[in-house]
Amino acid sequence: MDFVTLETDDFEYGVADEVLPGVTRVVAHNPSKFTYRGTGTYIVGDGADVAVIDPGPNLDSHRDALAMVLDGRTVRSILVTHCHADHSPLAAWLRSESEAPAYAYGPHGSSTDDWDIGSLPDDFGRPDPADSTREDGDGAEPPVEPKVEEATDTAFTPDVEVRSGDTVFADGTIAVTGVHTPGHTSNHMCFAMTSPTAGRVLFTGDHVMGWSTTVVSPPDGDMGDYMNSLRMVAGRRDDVAVPTHGSPIDRPGHFVGQLVDHRLDRERQVRDAVRRGRNTIPAMVTDLYRDVAVTLHRPAGASVLGHLVKLVADGEVVVDAQGAGAQPRLDSIYRAV
Ligand SMILES: [Zn+2]
Repeated sequence: MDFVTLETDDFEYGVADEVLPGVTRVVAHNPSKFTYRGTGTYIVGDGADVAVIDPGPNLDSHRDALAMVLDGRTVRSILVTHCHADHSPLAAWLRSESEAPAYAYGPHGSSTDDWDIGSLPDDFGRPDPADSTREDGDGAEPPVEPKVEEATDTAFTPDVEVRSGDTVFADGTIAVTGVHTPGHTSNHMCFAMTSPTAGRVLFTGDHVMGWSTTVVSPPDGDMGDYMNSLRMVAGRRDDVAVPTHGSPIDRPGHFVGQLVDHRLDRERQVRDAVRRGRNTIPAMVTDLYRDVAVTLHRPAGASVLGHLVKLVADGEVVVDAQGAGAQPRLDSIYRAV
């Protein structure tokens, strides 16, 4: 499928851009393979009172840019989609500056359901050092350490725990409510805005991205929940979806339906790979992601684990030789049922 990208979308880091009537975006300078060009912080409101969605990472440049853009406006609500390190950390600063409450589903998911997901072999998904010597010659940069997971801001705790349908901001014309969308993280929340000028807008955080598929990484990420949350969003009648990373998506129902199909295809591929005897995650990733850069193979391994957790829960795959009820891990052996 084709993803919408920011390639055609002019923006400058740290500068307020009006992306929709009553919605401005400031992009933080934290580009990466998880964040694309960077985190988009949204400021919502037609008048002096505003809500800020995902204040963003602890970067001085981003904090200063937000301070400038918010000068002369009153922050009434701080809305946090989830507490990955590129979304929530500046909420602490904004809370002390504005005294506005921070709204979110909750802190990062409790660890009661967590299990040890094991690890991939050290050399898996690392670029071959011989290749980088050939390409980069002398003085080459050290190879980048691929990360499997996004860092978590465990310090974040909301002032107000939001449930679906709760109003989190209203200014007389615009109203914003919470929409719980577990999957990317168990506490992930989208925010739905209704406005006479912009229509029905869903701020999707990392649940629906404009440029890539979302990482769903166990144990806190849950593929079954994620697909249910995608179907729920696909069934809404939003005029536009506004992701944290990437451009707004018009008529998102169709786009999100394609995301569901894409995940179902991947699930089928993982199940078929297990049936063909690809019984470890590295073997499945090497097979299914052969067209994807090797530096993305570790995050791909986390995604495949996400699918395997769902396939094991659905009774289609079992974890072999670890006893009944064993939780799927990155280093488990799998068998088709
Ligand atoms: Zn995230």
